[in-house]
Amino acid sequence: MDLLYPGVCHRCGEGIPGDRSLCEPCDLTLPSLRTPFCRKCGEEFEGRIEGDFECPNCRDLRFSFDFARPALPNHPALLGMIHELKYLRRIHFGVELGRLTARAFAEDPRLAEALEGKWPLIPVPLHRRRLVWRHFNQAEEIARSLGRHTGLPVCRALSRLRGTESQTRLSRAQRLKNLKGAFALSVSGRKFTAGNPPGAILVDDVFTTGATTNECARVLRRAGVQKVVVVTAMRG
Ligand SMILES: [Zn+2]
Ligand SMILES: [Zn+2]
Repeated sequence: MDLLYPGVCHRCGEGIPGDRSLCEPCDLTLPSLRTPFCRKCGEEFEGRIEGDFECPNCRDLRFSFDFARPALPNHPALLGMIHELKYLRRIHFGVELGRLTARAFAEDPRLAEALEGKWPLIPVPLHRRRLVWRHFNQAEEIARSLGRHTGLPVCRALSRLRGTESQTRLSRAQRLKNLKGAFALSVSGRKFTAGNPPGAILVDDVFTTGATTNECARVLRRAGVQKVVVVTAMRG
């Protein structure tokens, strides 16, 4: 595992100081999510739409979370960093991805109440088997860095009871069924939910169909969390 900071920009190879993995000019080339985007899933839309709207995909779905807010849209450079974090175990990319994810809080007024209320950042948990292979949970690495940039606490409130092997070939309905009962509250999760807290922020690397985050949100809501929002680095 690559634990040392290489001190070079992931995109252009320029030398950079400290724990950064992107130089300033390359950082600026990564676009934030642009309006209009779906208020539920963060899917960007071309053209002019005034005010809040839900994309055709979300209109017929019920999510257990209030909304999902990816910090950035799908971008090859960002996807590359996420892949290297996960599959090449470039753990230091988690720091940079957390910093980029903090843009969501700076740019989306809907997240102000989470900042003011000091809602905890709850990483989507990884199954132990995958954790053994990867040695870290990428969602937790992002959440930790995001916590430093937003001042929000990180709470490992959920644990994964069973692994759900790759879901990419399954339909949405199959994914949801496959995930039922896959997550439970951890000891800190039981402590956190004891007093019906006003809110929690689920953190993951990418938001795709929302099946996984929806199942995590369902567990938190059932335990008494009044509002759950999802924040991810990227929209898949
Ligand atoms: Zn660069
Ligand atoms: Zn949508």
